[in-house]
Amino acid sequence: MSDSTTTQTSKQESDTSQLTNPTLVLNCGSSSIKYALISEDESTRITGLAENLGLDTARIKHTALSGEKLEISIPGGRHKLALQKILELLEQYHFIAVGHRGVHGGREYSEAVQVTDHVLSEVKRLKSLAPLHNPANALGIEAVQAIYPDIPQVVVFDTAFHQTMPAVAYRYPIPKALYEDHKIRRYGFHGTSHAYVSERASQITEAGGTHGWLTAHLGNGCSAAAVYDGKSLDTSMGLTPLEGLMMGTRSGDVDPSLHIHLKRQLDMSLEDIDKMLNSDSGLLGISGLSNDMRTVEEAANEGHKDAKLAIEMFAYRAGKYLASLSCALPEFTGIIFTGGIGENSASTRARILNVMRHFGISFDADKNKTLAGGAEGSFHSSDSSVELWVIPTDEERQIAKETRQTLGLA
Ligand code: AMP
Repeated sequence: MSDSTTTQTSKQESDTSQLTNPTLVLNCGSSSIKYALISEDESTRITGLAENLGLDTARIKHTALSGEKLEISIPGGRHKLALQKILELLEQYHFIAVGHRGVHGGREYSEAVQVTDHVLSEVKRLKSLAPLHNPANALGIEAVQAIYPDIPQVVVFDTAFHQTMPAVAYRYPIPKALYEDHKIRRYGFHGTSHAYVSERASQITEAGGTHGWLTAHLGNGCSAAAVYDGKSLDTSMGLTPLEGLMMGTRSGDVDPSLHIHLKRQLDMSLEDIDKMLNSDSGLLGISGLSNDMRTVEEAANEGHKDAKLAIEMFAYRAGKYLASLSCALPEFTGIIFTGGIGENSASTRARILNVMRHFGISFDADKNKTLAGGAEGSFHSSDSSVELWVIPTDEERQIAKETRQTLGLA
């Protein structure tokens, strides 16, 4: 494996004073690593992405403290090499802790946890529930351990926030033994994002009392949650991230008998059906064009019929889910939109709210249109039954915060 380095900028980062006691946040996926170094007061950060890991085009895109961009190519490089390079780039800032985004914490973890040998072995064991993500998380933990054995590490699981769901929400109506002996239940995902935006909305709303939010994380992956008094009471994703809303390439809910039907009628294998539902469905499957909402919206505006249907279905399914999740809330304060689509597509937000037309919701269409590109704000009218918010998600910040809290540093 070669290891060539191309530096597009020569200026070295030198001013480390803005980044006091930073926490390094690592999000290790199957072929990528996102990272962020976040100062103790959360005001400053350095970010980057290692992508295409394992391929000739493997590279690290790093944004320095000054805003300058740096690109390092690591042809054929995998997680270990990429992490070595990332740690070299960040070494000068003397980070005091590392927080990992963990995908699946099973029933075992209902909050962030400091890494020990036992925790690391649990992350590996829970591979059965997240075959692509948990092994990458384990690699990230081990790479940091090898270079910085004394720096404390924490895992913040995507599933942990939803561990407050009651049994009526997390059990499937299937034989009890599957739950008791094999942990078959609903777990939910995107927990860090739902936690961040609901907490943020509770800070900035003027509504008094206990808050009940419906949070709609609409990105390439999409999920919704019902959060009351800071606790998740139900969510749309289940045992895996396939359940629930229509997404970029995932179908969301389909008839569970679709598998047997496709097997019998088309002789498709279970693996092929799984791939089709995860990678070839959703916006991509219906539009036949793309999983990217911007591309689908552009085509719909030009009259592409399947693109129009994809957008309508996306909104209909999201609105229908939000309406049903409202049943989990003792009180309904408002809806929060986040994720790439939720934060940027005013037309999708309007469509979803139109699907929920019996809820007495009203909003300012002009204000809705101004909320894009990272803007945070509300857009409900004064006579609306519930509040409407756009809150850009910040999973890295939430992971850094939970890491500091878990280690008693906050
Ligand atoms: P995420 O996974 O959160 O990065 O979100 C990715 C999704 O957000 C993709 O479907 C993008 O097309 C969509 N998105 C990003 N910006 C916009 C925009 N300005 N308008 C509509 N969709 C957008």
